[in-house]
Amino acid sequence: MVKETGYYDLLGVKPNATPDELKKAYRKLALKYHPDKNPNEGEKFKAISQAYEVLSDPDKRSIYDEGGEAAIKKGGADTGDFRNPMDFFEKFFGGGFTSGRRRERRGKDVVHQMSVQLEELYNGATRKLALQKNVICDKCEGRGGRKGAIEKCMQCNGAGLESRIQQIGPGLVQHIEQVCRKCAGSGEMISEKDRCKQCNGRKTVRERKVLEVHIEKGMRDGQKIVFSGEGDHEPDSQPGDIIILLDEKEHQTFVHAGTDLMMKMPIQLVEALCGFSRVIKTLDDRDLVITSPPGEVIKHEMTKCIMDEGMPLYKNPLEKGRLIIQFEVIFPESIPVSIIPALEQCLPPRPEVTIPIDAEQVTLSEFDPKQRRDQHHHRMAYEEDDRYEDGPRVQQCSSS
Ligand SMILES: [Zn+2]
Ligand SMILES: [Zn+2]
Repeated sequence: MVKETGYYDLLGVKPNATPDELKKAYRKLALKYHPDKNPNEGEKFKAISQAYEVLSDPDKRSIYDEGGEAAIKKGGADTGDFRNPMDFFEKFFGGGFTSGRRRERRGKDVVHQMSVQLEELYNGATRKLALQKNVICDKCEGRGGRKGAIEKCMQCNGAGLESRIQQIGPGLVQHIEQVCRKCAGSGEMISEKDRCKQCNGRKTVRERKVLEVHIEKGMRDGQKIVFSGEGDHEPDSQPGDIIILLDEKEHQTFVHAGTDLMMKMPIQLVEALCGFSRVIKTLDDRDLVITSPPGEVIKHEMTKCIMDEGMPLYKNPLEKGRLIIQFEVIFPESIPVSIIPALEQCLPPRPEVTIPIDAEQVTLSEFDPKQRRDQHHHRMAYEEDDRYEDGPRVQQCSSS
């Protein structure tokens, strides 16, 4: 039971989410609300980062689960200080997503999340992806205008920044440095008549680029495919990268866990006791037949596996993991009373139970884990009638 769910709600997961689910949720939201993509959602980006920073650390997560956000904030330097969300983001994604912090001048990396089906990760696939990116204008070769037509911006004297004095109170002024509005930070001006007609002096043009993305067998959710130097290009700088981030969609039969595949298989009670055969359709469309021999009993939630029918290993696709099957035995809701004697003949005998003379007959109720103890008492006091209704049925079971 957690005290509050705010951080979980921010990430859109349940409080019992696994570290993998949290990671996936953060990844998705952080990309969506990153200031590069969504400049107006800075606060949201920060909140998501803080929530994930806490929940991804097992110690902080347990502090939060017990005491909520207040307990985290009270923790001070150890728990209460959040990292800069941008630094946190870059650490999570392994860097290379924003150009501002780099030492060398580089164009922006373009990050694109691509949905993939489990079948594509199993069999490998090639996908075409159309993207828009900035390229150097070929007409003016990135100068923005006719040769020799470039002049220093008079507004900022070529610095690209201008400082302004703002009055913030009586006799109180503040110097503000901001990007020059006249030259947009370039420090240069080209008179209108000399401007390149193709890029209108911007030096770059938008270009549609179709990339062929090769999804290799055994790749996994969150894996990056980097197209080095294919990102935005700006004059006097290295082009950025295009980074494709794989986002695995849920599969209706299989769950992908490392190199293993997992599936649940419901079977009837008669099959669990008397044996069965089943056909499993693989991700490359083969049919596998599994058989449980008569005489062997499959218990509820028992797991078995098929070797070498899991996911292919990345870079070594001839090797495969396991296909793990968890059986779910479907019990009948009830059975006709008339068949009980026959059934008893077949099953191992029931144990002898001695009931002391002064034993109390009590009621078996449905168990609801969410129901709290205090509510429970309260409810029982007012619903006496229900209790008696349940009574005889249970009595019958235990005395038959
Ligand atoms: Zn300027
Ligand atoms: Zn141009």
